[in-house]
This record gives sequence, C-alpha cells and structure tokens, in this order.
Amino acid sequence: MPVKIDQLEARQAKYTAIAPILEKTYGRKPFKPHDGMDELVSCILSQSTTDANRDRGFAALKAKYPTWAEVHHAPAAEFIDTIRPAGLANSKGPRIQASLAQIYAERGAYNIDFLQDLTPDEAKIWLQRLPGVGPKTAAIVLCFGYGMPAFPVDTHVHRVGKRLGFLPPKINANDAHPVMEAIVPPTEYYPFHLQMIYHGRALCHAQRPQCSVCPLQTYCDYFQAVV
Ligand code: SF4
Repeated sequence: MPVKIDQLEARQAKYTAIAPILEKTYGRKPFKPHDGMDELVSCILSQSTTDANRDRGFAALKAKYPTWAEVHHAPAAEFIDTIRPAGLANSKGPRIQASLAQIYAERGAYNIDFLQDLTPDEAKIWLQRLPGVGPKTAAIVLCFGYGMPAFPVDTHVHRVGKRLGFLPPKINANDAHPVMEAIVPPTEYYPFHLQMIYHGRALCHAQRPQCSVCPLQTYCDYFQAVV
C-alpha cells in the first residue's frame, strides 16, 4: 500500500547510520519459520499483556486442545477459562474462536499457509478481516510465520522508532507500519525489527531510558532534544 512519507530520505539515511550499530550491539538473528496458525493465535493472546502471560495462555491452550478444531468447537466459557493466564480472556476467547470459524469457512481447513502465495498487501488485507487482527498481528504472522516482507510495529518499535526519529512524534502504532516498511529494506525487516525490540528492552525503556550509555546518542532525536 504506497503511502507518502514525510522526509523519507532523511529517515532512510538515519536507518543507514543506525542499522550497523544495532547489529553490532545485538547481533543478527537468522530467520526460522514458525507455524502460521500458532503465530496468529499466540499474537491474539499477546494483545495488551506480557510475553510471559501470553506464553502461559498459549501453553494452556495447546495442552487442553491438541487440534484447532477442538479450539474452535470448545464451549466458549471453558475456552475462556483455559486461556485466562493470557489476560483479557473474555474478549480474546471469542476472537480466537471466531477467527478459526472464519478460516475454516473460507479455506475448508485450519491452515493459512496459502498466504505465502499472495502478495504481502493481499495477505495483510486477508488477515485483517479476521476478528481481532490489526496491522501488528497481520505483520507478525507474515514476518515471523512465513518470512514475508511485513514490518511489525509493537510497543517497543513504536517507542524507539519515535525517539530515534524514524517515526513522526505523534504517529500511532497502526499508521507506523507503512513508514517503517518504507524506511527499512525488506530483507532487513525481520532482523531489524528484533534489534529494535532488543534495544527497547535493554536501554530505551519506556520510563527512564538509559541514554548515558546508549550507542545511538548521535542519531537520536530524543537525545538531541531532551538529554
Ligand atoms: S539515546 Fe536514549 S532515547 Fe535515544 S535511543 Fe538511546 S536510550 Fe533511546
């Protein structure tokens, strides 16, 4: 989906300067495909909670229901109770079951591997028709599940991206997806997304970022303006 990005060349130049520093600092994780259905459901479980709670909810789901058909047809209250460790189970439970119903109705199976045969834009549009799936979840499924060129903007990427100046200061996370995709070369989406998350966790915290020891000071809009 082509969008006009303000100061695109300046943002790309910033990427060119910052990318090698992040790679040197955090390394480069090679891509390893994951099951697309697992990614989709785990990503819905991850909304507004911690990774640890998401993992607990997902593990409980997998332990109780060995197949997606069993998840789909589980009694709603029982399913909600099963995924309660992930938080917001009352809204996530119906979304997951409705997504499975829609996938089965459209594809005749609980399988979304066909997305690899679509263009990234087509695949994003298809995924975002599922209940509870927005730009971030769609991008995670495509990027982490299938290695397709989609750049997920989670809370860390959104915060770090705004501070560094990849993203305009007031942009919301949904609107940030096409901006990051225009700045970063598609082959780098997966490793650079992870490097931004590592940086957000290690130094660029939401509260009290560790700017005094950050290797990105020179290129960081927040550091230049505030620190
Ligand atoms: S200088 Fe501070 S605000 Fe900028 S990226 Fe580093 S930790 Fe974050």
